[in-house]
Amino acid sequence: MSNLFYQSGAKRPVLDHAQGVYMWDQQGNRYLDGSSGAMVCNIGHSNPNVLAAMRRQMEKSTFGYRLHFETEASEALANKLAELTPEGLNKVFFVSGGSEAVESAMKLARQYAIATDKPTRWKVISRSPSYHGCTLGALAVTGYSSLTAPFAPMMQEMPKIPAPRAYLDGLDPNDPKTGIHYADMLEAQILREGPETVLAFIIEPIGGASTGALVPPVGYMDRIRQICDQYGVVLIADEVMTGAGRTGTFLGCEHWGLRPDIVVMSKGLGAGYVPLGAVIADDKIVDAVMDKGGFAHGFTYAGNPLACAAGLAVLDEIASQNLCANATSTGDKLIARLHGLMQKHDVIGDVRGKGLLTAFEFMADRSTKAPLPPHLNAHQLFVDLAYARGLIVYSRRTRDGIAGDHILVCPPLIIDDTHIDEIITGLDATLTEFMTHIHPKINA
Ligand code: PMP
Repeated sequence: MSNLFYQSGAKRPVLDHAQGVYMWDQQGNRYLDGSSGAMVCNIGHSNPNVLAAMRRQMEKSTFGYRLHFETEASEALANKLAELTPEGLNKVFFVSGGSEAVESAMKLARQYAIATDKPTRWKVISRSPSYHGCTLGALAVTGYSSLTAPFAPMMQEMPKIPAPRAYLDGLDPNDPKTGIHYADMLEAQILREGPETVLAFIIEPIGGASTGALVPPVGYMDRIRQICDQYGVVLIADEVMTGAGRTGTFLGCEHWGLRPDIVVMSKGLGAGYVPLGAVIADDKIVDAVMDKGGFAHGFTYAGNPLACAAGLAVLDEIASQNLCANATSTGDKLIARLHGLMQKHDVIGDVRGKGLLTAFEFMADRSTKAPLPPHLNAHQLFVDLAYARGLIVYSRRTRDGIAGDHILVCPPLIIDDTHIDEIITGLDATLTEFMTHIHPKINA
């Protein structure tokens, strides 16, 4: 009888050890980690260089409270992140996870507004569907009603605009008019709210768990940048999932040359070795806040030297193993092979993604884009069937709007062609078995 509790879900075996892209349970069963945990373990499991860096740091110190000491590891990691992120984003604030990073970014933007004599600005516009975290502030900008609804009375409601799901709306994502169409919804929302009340706009550059690797249409990113500039709105890129090389560039926004005002990172930064997150902000934002007395915010474990030493070693591995390039080349192959599965299995209605943030979505009917009936809980069934075959994938049902169940296939960035073969073989067999369960029930 366990004293632990999490969300609902199938009982899973006890993890024994993990190496590279594989994990083993205590019964000796091997699993290919086709989702890098929750899109976390970008450099694979048990990387010896990261473990050695952690050991070296542990021998020196594992904690130095930030108000008592600077630490070499946190300084070095901050410098590295300033180097790897867009020009002018040089100020780094460490946290221990993605929700903390999102909270911190929003509070920093708010203090910036106050410091620059714009105290009426407090609303953070976000998109629906989206996921930005589970703490009450991050949840308030999350567009995912089943997660947010129970807590509605406890949260400040924040405005939402639709995520640019061109494939569902029957629009061509390669037509710049499509990008403008969705981006202009931001302008309309700012005008509805009153520009003098709007503080920030937060986006996942490529959708994560909420939309299943949704890539924005051509023209979208340029236009939202223009709109944020025009109305003095802080643009926050939530790179918790897309950062640290996941999509083939260090940050997801690099694909469009987008320069956010604040970037938040987590997952792939600690890469499963330590809990770590970071807010990387424009100098002018932080300078203004510091001039007016500093940032009234901070977590006890912020800048923990062990976490930062691990993060630094993770970034070294991403660079030395050329993992961004590997994510691009293996991601292209994986997406092509997922398209192959779509040709074979009608239940796949869409394949999408960039680098190794890839997904496919189930549809009952491709022509109408009708989702599978929700009561089938198809995404969980698929995950459980794949798991039983030793393949771990990640899934969600986007319950807002009409999108159905999607499966994220996001292996560590160290994969090679043989791992892709193994993933595709596992998915193919799982899809066949899945249909034997689903088919009789689709029209039931
Ligand atoms: N933002 C995004 C885009 C995420 O994907 C997640 C986690 N799935 C978070 C924020 C929250 O991160 P955490 O679970 O580490 O708090």
